[in-house]
Amino acid sequence: MMQIDAIRGDITEQQVDAIVNAANSSLLGGGGVDGAIHRRGGPEILAECRALRDSHYGKGLPTGQAVATTAGRLPARWVIHTVGPVYSTGTDRSPLLRDCYRNSLRVADELGAATVAFPLVSAGVYGWPAEDAIRQALNTLRDTETAVERATLVLFDEPKRALAQQLLAR
Ligand code: ADP
Repeated sequence: MMQIDAIRGDITEQQVDAIVNAANSSLLGGGGVDGAIHRRGGPEILAECRALRDSHYGKGLPTGQAVATTAGRLPARWVIHTVGPVYSTGTDRSPLLRDCYRNSLRVADELGAATVAFPLVSAGVYGWPAEDAIRQALNTLRDTETAVERATLVLFDEPKRALAQQLLAR
């Protein structure tokens, strides 16, 4: 059984095998957690993202999918880039949000990563309400079959950490 933790912190500082990036489909960097990862990880990550884009994802990485690069100067060994759905009040895009966690764990398994840190995918610029984003994240991590030993949900602020902790305790 995979252990699941929720902490407050900066994902770029996590000493884990792999950190997950809430990337955009271009794989060419963006704001939020994506910007922080490229800023602190250095140009090597972006160069690998470009190569992946040129070889496989000319039209962009589809929403819900995940791909890995190395992690440049970050303490982690790998960055797993996944593209969250933009929140919509009209259609339920939560299956795509769950795909992000599931596919990231699958990529982690392929890499042989034992410890993985996740940001709260889609809950920033992409507008997903935080409480539901946390529920989707924790439920999907709990329900996914994986060899990963520990998944850490890294929340950027204390209220979200407290909420995640509360949901985990149930
Ligand atoms: P998206 O475009 O998928 O919404 P964002 O990067 O805008 O992605 O936001 C996703 C979540 O990551 C938000 O809750 C945001 O507060 C958080 N976040 C931003 N920077 C960091 C960071 N350095 N470490 C961890 N979480 C972060």
